[in-house]
Amino acid sequence: MRFYANFKMHHTRASTTEYIAKLNEELTSIECDDITIFPPATALQKSLGKVVVGAQNGYFEAKGAYTGEIGLTQLEEFGIDTILIGHSERREIFGESQEFIAKKYAYYKEQGFHIVYCIGEPLTVREQGEEALFEYLYAQFEGIDIEYEKLTVAYEPIWAIGTGVSATVEDIELVHNRLKEKFALPLLYGGSVKIDSIEQIAKIKSVDGVLVGSASLDAKGFATLIKRGLGV
Ligand code: PEP
Repeated sequence: MRFYANFKMHHTRASTTEYIAKLNEELTSIECDDITIFPPATALQKSLGKVVVGAQNGYFEAKGAYTGEIGLTQLEEFGIDTILIGHSERREIFGESQEFIAKKYAYYKEQGFHIVYCIGEPLTVREQGEEALFEYLYAQFEGIDIEYEKLTVAYEPIWAIGTGVSATVEDIELVHNRLKEKFALPLLYGGSVKIDSIEQIAKIKSVDGVLVGSASLDAKGFATLIKRGLGV
């Protein structure tokens, strides 16, 4: 089971450093080598112990005149080699198109990064039925090399993100089983995963891990979620 934490625009450099130390301390006796946190860009730092540090975003150049962005050079300073691409907040709030996302993907693939690639549908699409749902989800793979060996896909229905309402086991199975038939890829579920729901979600055969937002912000809480997900 893999555990990924998306801090979004939460935590500072100082609190992220404390968080990493605390999470390592809480997980001392736990066997799990797939824990990654994605802090804000200002809090990027080297991975430590069991906690891998990844980037929430990165532009598809090493450096250059791209105001407000960070690129490969800035990520390399901290030995970062894991990146989140295609998150629905980047797509919806920052208007990242599929074409733009595919450029980022191609660039970081070329650099050999581990890529956590997010897909997910809004409620209006979900309500239109299965055909519309899968048409929407498959369109999010346009321009994405799904044969890439360091690719992990995160299915995050937008209506479940930050709402406190996780998708049901049936909702998750519907999408995960279909994706697993199509692609042999590690598949995460994300969307209001909480300490109280992780056991149920971790039992789903087609779920290889979780991408967690709000329930990951407290190190002790995230450690509890990890332990429950591992059943220890
Ligand atoms: C996310 O945005 O990746 C996410 C899963 O958030 P939350 O757990 O808060 O729904």
